[in-house]
Amino acid sequence: MKTRERTAPNGYEGGLPASLSVLGATGSVGRQALDVAERHAIPVDLLSANTDVRGMEALARRFAPRVCVMADGDAARDLSARLRDTGITVRGGESALLETIREVDSPVTVNAILGEAGLLPTLACVSLGRRLALSNKESLVVAGEVVKAEAKKSGCEIIPVDSEHSAIFQCLHAGRAGEVRSIILTASGGPFRGKTREELETVTLRDALAHPTWKMGAKITVDSATMMNKGFEVIEAAHLFDVSPDAIRVVVHPESIIHSAVEYIDSAVVAQLSTPDMRLCVQYALTYPARLPGLTPGLDLFSVGSFHFCPPDPDAFPLLPLAYRAISLGGGVPAVLNAANEVAVAAFLSEKIGFTSIFRTVTETVEKLSGRRTAKTVEELIDADREARGIAASLL
Ligand code: NDP
Repeated sequence: MKTRERTAPNGYEGGLPASLSVLGATGSVGRQALDVAERHAIPVDLLSANTDVRGMEALARRFAPRVCVMADGDAARDLSARLRDTGITVRGGESALLETIREVDSPVTVNAILGEAGLLPTLACVSLGRRLALSNKESLVVAGEVVKAEAKKSGCEIIPVDSEHSAIFQCLHAGRAGEVRSIILTASGGPFRGKTREELETVTLRDALAHPTWKMGAKITVDSATMMNKGFEVIEAAHLFDVSPDAIRVVVHPESIIHSAVEYIDSAVVAQLSTPDMRLCVQYALTYPARLPGLTPGLDLFSVGSFHFCPPDPDAFPLLPLAYRAISLGGGVPAVLNAANEVAVAAFLSEKIGFTSIFRTVTETVEKLSGRRTAKTVEELIDADREARGIAASLL
């Protein structure tokens, strides 16, 4: 298990980066990363998105990046016409994004792309040996071993943006390698905390999108409601911190003030607390090991009043235990889990299936493709992803 030194291995000593790239700029985390950039007047090299041309046009005019990339070719053509007066370069397509990441070579890149689409951009960033502020947890779920091996080769620092992993990363400064007993990964429990499996049969999309403590993109909000998100976070933590999944305990903490904790071998438990606000996590990933004043309001413990804790319910939320099973099978099985979940959640968001059909679709796809545990290379993992998408779609 790793603990962290307060020095950067690749020349960037923390504090404010000279410039920044933000991938997935039009999304929830992307926009919050840009709020942090604006707060500290960090110049922006590259902004990327998929199809949201209007959102990107507004961001491009506000931040004047050198380049904007839209993964969707038509969206790129539209954006290019809209930004003709600005002199900003606009490119289109997935391979253009990978080339541009390498070309602009920012000292820090925030990857806040949604889903498996973030994997190749993560690998492109990692190959540069610069700092990657990683919000796209799917990169690690799908190809954690490959991403880590490439980062080791290039000297890339991967600093987590996910609030729980940012918390664990901070708590790991309190001890040394070999002194960690376990990781306590907190979960809000989402909007359906305390509901039985039977009660979940009748919940609606609107109910699922009403997260009690965090305001996030629609897909991760549904993943929080199913607790698939927590399952992904177990896999993400296992890779980021080189810890066995058996040493990661999920604890439901509805107030979302304790963002996670590390238990040491002397039984000391070190936790990180703050008001729930992703701008703190993004800023820390940019400035680590330095801390700077930011946009997050201070924590008033008196107004929080009390903390509550309970174990997750594996019968009501079966995707959390399924994530432990997927990582223990290893290879391409976590990629299958993620792909099946992306397909099922997209169907739920477009109201084609009910909430608990997400459980059935993902579980059956993982059962059918558990033989994908032998996948290792990026090509094999992407192949497992594509096969899982086909099977999940056929099960809807
Ligand atoms: P959003 O849905 O709000 O934003 C996703 C971003 O990714 C948008 O900019 C979107 O572009 C872009 N995108 C989507 N599909 C593609 C694609 N195929 N190729 C390139 N770009 C694409 O997501 P969130 O900000 O909520 O989440 C982003 C990541 O951060 C996820 O991995 C999530 O798990 C993680 N995360 C999010 C948290 C949050 O608070 N939201 C907290 C912790 C982690 P467009 O707008 O054009 O569609």
